[in-house]
Amino acid sequence: MVRIGVIAAALAASASAAGTLHDGFNAQQAYAYTARIAGYGERWPGSPGHRKTEDLIHQVLQQDGARVEADDFTASTPRGPVAVHNIIGKFHVTADPKQKIFILAGHYDTLFQPGFLGANDGASSTAILLAFADALAGQKTKMQIWLVWTDLEEAINAFDENDGLYGSRHLAQKLAANGTTARVRGFFLLDMIGDKDLGVARESGSDRGLQDYITRAARQLGYGQYFFQYSMEIIDDHVPFLHAGVPAVDVVDAMYGRMGPQFDSMGEFHHANTDTMDKVSQRSLEVVGRTILLTVEMLDG
Ligand SMILES: [Zn+2]
Repeated sequence: MVRIGVIAAALAASASAAGTLHDGFNAQQAYAYTARIAGYGERWPGSPGHRKTEDLIHQVLQQDGARVEADDFTASTPRGPVAVHNIIGKFHVTADPKQKIFILAGHYDTLFQPGFLGANDGASSTAILLAFADALAGQKTKMQIWLVWTDLEEAINAFDENDGLYGSRHLAQKLAANGTTARVRGFFLLDMIGDKDLGVARESGSDRGLQDYITRAARQLGYGQYFFQYSMEIIDDHVPFLHAGVPAVDVVDAMYGRMGPQFDSMGEFHHANTDTMDKVSQRSLEVVGRTILLTVEMLDG
């Protein structure tokens, strides 16, 4: 009995040492992170839930050995000045000034709306990035991988060129100004990917070549049916990066619950206080998490 246990443990250890980035993705942990973050309550900038989410991100990044950077500024908004904190965790940074960079991003703020918990819209994207941090800690890549938690993605009133995407607009401009964008091989934005009824949109403004890599990775894992079965144009945190010349894809489930004229254009649970944990599944996090990490492996060179 004891002997078998020891052999099994040794085999498990060697399998994980020889494993891959996508096999290191822990969907159960991603789901647990999602529940924990949704449990913090409303997470608009300045709220206690927002602060707790920032603390969790910093704690996981520290534990996973990332190089942590802040992109802090004050945004002028229709509510007045708002302190915005983008958080960046960098993995596998070498001394090579030409080393390519790949960015995986998602927003961690929620709407300024009383009672809005954003289990899918906010918590799932924050959580999948935390699970990526855990996977990256166990595997080396040639590219530097940046995990970026954007802040104040949500519009105060309605999305236009001056409202919404505050954090991503600031960061994209900063990286363009200091020349970093030229080194960025790609940018994937994760948004609302915890939806139990998963269907990732083919966002029509996104980079088609990178979408094709995602398709290949998904098919290889048997997840092809969950990706790109419908097209939609979506304004999201990838847009400022596209404008800065970075190949970017919005990996977004844009049909959240029933669709129809009586509902929000992205489904009945979108920006509704019914965006709660019962609409999120571990399986969806697993499908997206493994597919995205396999795509990164394919692009790593
Ligand atoms: Zn939203």
